[in-house]
Amino acid sequence: MNNFQIAIDGPAGAGKSTIAKIAAKKLGYIYIDTGAMYRAIGLFFDRNGAWPESHEKIKELVGRADINIGYENGEQVIFLNGENVSSLIRTQEAGDSASKVSRFPEVREKMVELQQRLAGTKNVIMDGRDIGTVVLPDAQLKIFLTADVSVRAKRRLLQLEEKGQTCDIAKIEEEIRGRDKQDMTRSVSPLKQADDAILLDTSDKTIDEVVEEIVKLQKERIG
Ligand code: C5P
Repeated sequence: MNNFQIAIDGPAGAGKSTIAKIAAKKLGYIYIDTGAMYRAIGLFFDRNGAWPESHEKIKELVGRADINIGYENGEQVIFLNGENVSSLIRTQEAGDSASKVSRFPEVREKMVELQQRLAGTKNVIMDGRDIGTVVLPDAQLKIFLTADVSVRAKRRLLQLEEKGQTCDIAKIEEEIRGRDKQDMTRSVSPLKQADDAILLDTSDKTIDEVVEEIVKLQKERIG
């Protein structure tokens, strides 16, 4: 493998996408946000008013959901059956739908295949829940990013407020705990730290400090 892959996993609100995006820019790598793909397919299931338990129906829905990514002004945009849904997927509800839909093996299979194809032979930073364990098992650098749940809730609140959404911190914290539990206990590809991943706790660190740490680790690995 001539390309360099950085896999970043961790729970909701640990800062993965913010940090991965900045680090990608610094390194000149492509950033791939896999959570956006699960959010888009969650939106598709929501729109079809269905949370089916039948594998046939899930398969049928997955077959009709075409997910794709593109880049506009250096930012990842996500398409659901040709529609740019980037601005529709950044709500708490969309995160919850993503978490629900991501339990289905049929969904994961399709997403993993797409993610591996996108990573291809390029230098990438990819973030998600199963990147170091399943999607890019040979990534040269794996990071498991975490932070205290109260810190993660505060960060999420700020993000939502910046988008003009009003939220209650206690409710956000409760939702984050629920999502962590759902992501860590599902039977297919649960969120867990890969054996060879480096644990970074961002609770008391600034975004810049974490980015610097990742860039330093990449330089060390490259030699
Ligand atoms: O990272 P983000 O909050 O956008 O992810 C939304 C949800 O999508 C997660 O809570 C998780 O259930 C799911 N997900 C996943 N595997 C990934 C990325 C996201 O299961 N690689």
